[in-house]
Amino acid sequence: MTKTDEITRALMETPVLRDVALEKELVWINPDKKDFNIGAKGQELTMADIDDAEERLKRFAPFIMQRFPETKERGGLIESVLKPIPNMQKLLNDTYHAGLEGRLLLKQDSHLAIAGSIKARGGIYEVLKHTEDLALEHGLINPEESYARLASEENRRFFSRYTIQVGSTGNLGMSIGIMSAAIGYNAVVHMSADAKQWKKDLLRSRGVTVIEYESDYSEAVVNGRKLSDQNPNSYFVDDENSRNLFLGYAVAAKRLVTQLEELGITVDPAHPLFVYLPCGVGGAPGGVSFGLKQVFQDAVHCFFVEPTQAPCMLAGMATKLHNAMSVQDIGLTGLTHADGLAVGRPSSFVGKVMEPMLSGIFTIRDGNLYEYMRELLRAEDIFLEPSACAAFMGPAHLNVYQETRNYIKKQGLQDKMARAIHIAWATGGSLVPDSVREEYKNMYL
Ligand SMILES: *Cc1c(COP(=O)(O)O)cnc(C)c1O
Repeated sequence: MTKTDEITRALMETPVLRDVALEKELVWINPDKKDFNIGAKGQELTMADIDDAEERLKRFAPFIMQRFPETKERGGLIESVLKPIPNMQKLLNDTYHAGLEGRLLLKQDSHLAIAGSIKARGGIYEVLKHTEDLALEHGLINPEESYARLASEENRRFFSRYTIQVGSTGNLGMSIGIMSAAIGYNAVVHMSADAKQWKKDLLRSRGVTVIEYESDYSEAVVNGRKLSDQNPNSYFVDDENSRNLFLGYAVAAKRLVTQLEELGITVDPAHPLFVYLPCGVGGAPGGVSFGLKQVFQDAVHCFFVEPTQAPCMLAGMATKLHNAMSVQDIGLTGLTHADGLAVGRPSSFVGKVMEPMLSGIFTIRDGNLYEYMRELLRAEDIFLEPSACAAFMGPAHLNVYQETRNYIKKQGLQDKMARAIHIAWATGGSLVPDSVREEYKNMYL
């Protein structure tokens, strides 16, 4: 079959794609989700890999504290607050007739130190992993002593002989660029056309080289990789396939356990947890969900949210074509105000890992990103960037769409919803400059 034949067949066999192609807001329920014990079989990554990543982040904590004093409060761990948002829940119920029972919380990765987005998890972890590999290989450290010594001038000079490059729509470039520059690397970020000017400016102010593209994210990645491959001392962060990035995100789940305990919240089969995560290429929401499934297994229900113009993970998973198809193949533009989610082709690594685990994917129109943004400001006085506001599509529609109501019924959760916990995963926003915030507040589409 030619590529066009394959996509035509996929469209015919996957009715939801017709509505997706019509740019409708909708939810897709994953028909391949399995019970955790069955789905976890044969997975390449396990809990042990997440534990390993968590330990590595602990080893680097003294170094991070030294380079980024704002992390001192948390002992050099980059972690965000989990905050109940009852006023937002009331607003969703009153104004949007969401009928959301249980408790709604906000996971404020929007306010993560250093990068101001969820990318502070995966992106920074990947840079640290590479740094540890190099440092061990060249005898700069041994794992028993404090990594704070990596911050010495001598070590900084060592890392300046190496380059780290990445393709990005903005936030990944910020987390990798800022951390790489702080360690001493030459950092090169290949920015797609969607990337906001202030993100490029901020990176340049930290000494990062920003190369701009007039095309979309995939093009920035292809070129970035090519340039990196020409330089033996250059390391390319592969957002689509990196296991390291994925594991950096997954550590969030282990830390969430403690945070839920601190709030006196139980998660078990009688107290289901629903999590709503904005999705671009898939690494961040996939990694977090993978971790959450390891920890809470069948008690957690993970939903992604994508823009109606860039629902690449939905298209890839529903057809099982993954990165063999793009949203442009079904007539969408891939253009969206949600710059963090402006990805036309998903990670097939993530799509395949999520196949037995993901509950479903919501889509959202750009205009509604700004509505939720204003509502959250009004109700809770918290600012999120537009991409992050996609998370609210889930709690607003869980009880509204027939498909999700059926999901709840099929999972036997109807009588448990009054005790359910809903987490909207706020993926970015704290670094957005005031002038840009004002622009967003007045954006009506
Ligand atoms: C990158 C990003 C996401 C999605 O992460 P992916 O790994 O691309 O799926 C969501 N929200 C924001 C704000 C982001 O920057």
